[in-house]
Amino acid sequence: MPDLLDLLHSTFGFNDFRGVQRQVVDRVMAGDRTLAVMPTGAGKSLCYQLPAVALEGTCVVISPLIALMHDQLRAATAVGIRAATLTSADDNRVETIERFKAGDLDLLYVAPERASAGHFRELLSRAKVALFAIDEAHCVSEWGHDFRPDYRLLRPLLDSFPDVPRLALTATADAHTRDDILVQLGIPTDGLIVAGFDRPNIRYAISPRQNTTQQIADLLREQPGPGIVYVQSRAGTEKLAAQIAATGRPVRAYHAGLEPQIRAANQAAFVASEEMVMVATVAFGMGIDKPDVRFVAHAGLPKSIEAYYQETGRAGRDGEPAVAHMFWGADDFAKARQRLGEVDEIRLPGERARLTALGGLVETPSCRRALLLRYFGEHPPEACGNCDNCLSPPQGVDATELARKYLSAVFRTGQMFGAGYVESVLTGQSTERSLMNGHEALSVWGIVDGEDSALLKPVGRALQLRDALRTNPHGGLEFGPAARAILKGEEPVSLIVPPKRERRNRRDSAP
Ligand code: ADP
Ligand code: ZN
Repeated sequence: MPDLLDLLHSTFGFNDFRGVQRQVVDRVMAGDRTLAVMPTGAGKSLCYQLPAVALEGTCVVISPLIALMHDQLRAATAVGIRAATLTSADDNRVETIERFKAGDLDLLYVAPERASAGHFRELLSRAKVALFAIDEAHCVSEWGHDFRPDYRLLRPLLDSFPDVPRLALTATADAHTRDDILVQLGIPTDGLIVAGFDRPNIRYAISPRQNTTQQIADLLREQPGPGIVYVQSRAGTEKLAAQIAATGRPVRAYHAGLEPQIRAANQAAFVASEEMVMVATVAFGMGIDKPDVRFVAHAGLPKSIEAYYQETGRAGRDGEPAVAHMFWGADDFAKARQRLGEVDEIRLPGERARLTALGGLVETPSCRRALLLRYFGEHPPEACGNCDNCLSPPQGVDATELARKYLSAVFRTGQMFGAGYVESVLTGQSTERSLMNGHEALSVWGIVDGEDSALLKPVGRALQLRDALRTNPHGGLEFGPAARAILKGEEPVSLIVPPKRERRNRRDSAP
């Protein structure tokens, strides 16, 4: 057998393995079944391409997208690997099949629906298969964010070649999805290799949204280098970009609704600039190679922890210090919960768990990085020293009583008023409206004062985050499923209060 390091040099031109690559390749070479969970850019393809070159026979790669396969094919061919794709978009299929049978291919890329068809199994039995590589393996799980029923058909195919090693690969898999992949693809638990998710040079910070424009302006003043601000709507990107432009900072907007030429020009300007801000929807970022992005801000809740990791991961690819700052609002969670109502039943448990995990990330009083890395299956130290919670530990405050008062006020005013009104009832601020409604006679009128009144907004947010309160279409608060237990005092509510930071003079800071 050729020496693997020699092959790594001679075929790929790399000096050494990266991260867990060696561990994964060794298992494959030993004929073991493996699931490798590695972040984007960690070098997953090498984990099957190198064995494909080293082993006799062909490595069959199952991949969900034709475009992805063709990219991989180009890259492999460029380093002299004998590779081909077998898809409906290829008109050289007859030739490819002949090459495969003749043992003239190191790599053969196929789509899952083709792989699971009967005649493909017959073809495999007439060739020498060295390895099955299942790319984007999270597609096999209903818990995954991208379930593909076709992936479920792979198991019988794999099982009819029990001696061929299998290697499943994915970049994003929470613990539940990972366990599911192992079961669905017949990989033993000790075949799981997870690694390389830490991005130590990125400093994570997460704050509740107060005045997004102001908060972003503060961030931009501290971060002169190039950065990305993710905004949820297309219109929102253009609005914020205009506000930032007014401060003199170079800025562009990016979203899928822009003309392709404008999109391309904005992207090119950003990549070339050393100070530009790109205000974008999540359509921006895929395949963009800019190593010196100094910050990524989220002006709203990302879709999932996976998406958050992916999007923040665009900062600091050069290894220099970078910042990831998220600003979230209770209404983000309300909207996300509303969207759950439109999700297929089969995907609902996974989507719900993803939202809960995201709630945990924004609410945690402890290390953000540790939480992220644990989510991806790593075993990080308790504190990283480079996130907001590690740098200035927040204080926990028991807000159970206050939360009960809050819920009680929502209930007694008829579950129809917004947060501002509920707060004014609790603090006893008389208005024409409160008089007209007769709310000044309620037992909850003015029962909150002093320091507690400053906690009313965070309590309202915490209750929405926990689904104890929901917003109706008119902005009124009403009870959610978690309300009763809190109201009865069965469920404690603690609040995280950020340490008081010095506030700067803000007169000249508006963008
Ligand atoms: P992934 O599929 O995990 O996102 P890729 O397989 O596309 O990552 O690899 C990401 C980049 O890292 C590619 O440019 C690849 O050539 C490079 N790469 C992979 N392994 C190594 C290595 N051992 N040494 C240096 N570069 C590597
Ligand atoms: Zn930390």
